[in-house]
Amino acid sequence: MSPFQHGEVYVLNDGAETDLDLGHYERFTSCDLSRFNNLTSGQIYESVIQKERRGDYLGKTVQVIPHVTNEIKERIYAAGEDVDILITEIGGTIGDIEGLPFLEAMRQFSLEIGQENRLFVHVTLLPYLKAAGELKSKPSQMSVAKLREIGIQPDILICRTEEAIPGELRQKLSLFCNVPQAAVVEEQDVESSIYELPLMLQRENLDTLVVKGLHLPDERPNMGEWQDVVRRLKYPASRVRIGVVGKYIELQDAYKSVYESLTHGGIANDCGIEVVRVDSETLQDGVPEEYQDLDGILVPGGFGDRGVEGKIEAVRLAREYGIPYFGLCLGMQVAVIEFARNVLKLEGANSTEFDVRTEHPVIDLMEEQRGMTIKGASMRLGAYECEVAEGTHSAKAYGKSLVRERHRHRFEYNNSYRDQLVEAGLRVAGRNPERDLVEIVEVADHPWFVGVQFHPEFQSKPNSAHPLFASFVQAAMARKKAKK
Ligand code: GLN
Repeated sequence: MSPFQHGEVYVLNDGAETDLDLGHYERFTSCDLSRFNNLTSGQIYESVIQKERRGDYLGKTVQVIPHVTNEIKERIYAAGEDVDILITEIGGTIGDIEGLPFLEAMRQFSLEIGQENRLFVHVTLLPYLKAAGELKSKPSQMSVAKLREIGIQPDILICRTEEAIPGELRQKLSLFCNVPQAAVVEEQDVESSIYELPLMLQRENLDTLVVKGLHLPDERPNMGEWQDVVRRLKYPASRVRIGVVGKYIELQDAYKSVYESLTHGGIANDCGIEVVRVDSETLQDGVPEEYQDLDGILVPGGFGDRGVEGKIEAVRLAREYGIPYFGLCLGMQVAVIEFARNVLKLEGANSTEFDVRTEHPVIDLMEEQRGMTIKGASMRLGAYECEVAEGTHSAKAYGKSLVRERHRHRFEYNNSYRDQLVEAGLRVAGRNPERDLVEIVEVADHPWFVGVQFHPEFQSKPNSAHPLFASFVQAAMARKKAKK
């Protein structure tokens, strides 16, 4: 998956590499998802073909119905085993050829479990024609007509719209789409953040509709915590400017979870975050002076050597000027490289990802990874344990000594440089107990400088920020205050 086409690759606890939508589901529901929550056409067809080869179908003709649709249903049942309510999103647009077997499977599913145990929610777009000054309902009518052709009648219509939906249009949507008017739900573009959406949908009574539709006990939810999240987002008590230095900085979705997690760190501190996006390639020959004014610098993950020297320059600026620094994955690796080069004076120190012949491979592949030819095979993926060392920024942030964090990388901190690096002041604040891999480094003599080999951004939530993001924002606030 290329960040240019798909946005970030989101990683789950079990190491599944998924679409970034799964990130939204984890952030909004606080559920821990697994590879069973991500279904692709490729997986389905692969499994059907394997079963056919094994003879599971007893030589019968293999067809989309029932073999492919059965495979889809089986997986939906499996994903729903331990949960009260399963949300199944069929991606794409109604009418896509790829989506057809999935929709057919849903029709059968409904027949099997009974209408009272399922709810069909259809999300549609109401385009706004500026010239005519009106919202159009035709696309919604057409997609609902298409759905009914397949045998699916939506129970609820969620209408994405730029403008409020006038009463007449609600009536029209109700009539043509065959849903009660109360089930035409408006989802108007929000002002500042998607975290406003649950409150907006509640005002439209979506919660009551769902509870009724699924025959669940109707208890009023307590939205106090969520209201507070939105209040802090919209009217924060203070603000900081954080520079994010990356390669895909012009792409909205490439660092989605990183931006979200910064926002969460802000919410935890009642602080607004202004992200200054810095293209690392513009820093190759040194960092412009204005960046000294940043309250914090973050370098996210990445692959390949483009822009790496610029990231190293950004680390140097943060380290030398005492600007809070947070390095994620590659951001940790460049921090180690910078320290080796400029503090330990190991000339040309590098990662073997960028220079295979470097004299000082402070970041390197591990012995057992060498010789693996299929690149993806040697990646460390998913959640691993990390022991946090006492008396560090990380220990203070986490408030516990053992954590589990998600990984997606090939290269590691090279332990043969550990003694030198630690001696010179780059302490090891976290290590994987099983394999003695360095997971967190910190510059001891610095207000807040933390590099992590993992991706904390995959576990942060709006109402429960990842501790390291919260602590980073706090450090940025402290710096801003000290500057005044
Ligand atoms: N390219 C580095 C590695 O493979 C870092 C990966 C990342 O930042 N996710 O180790």
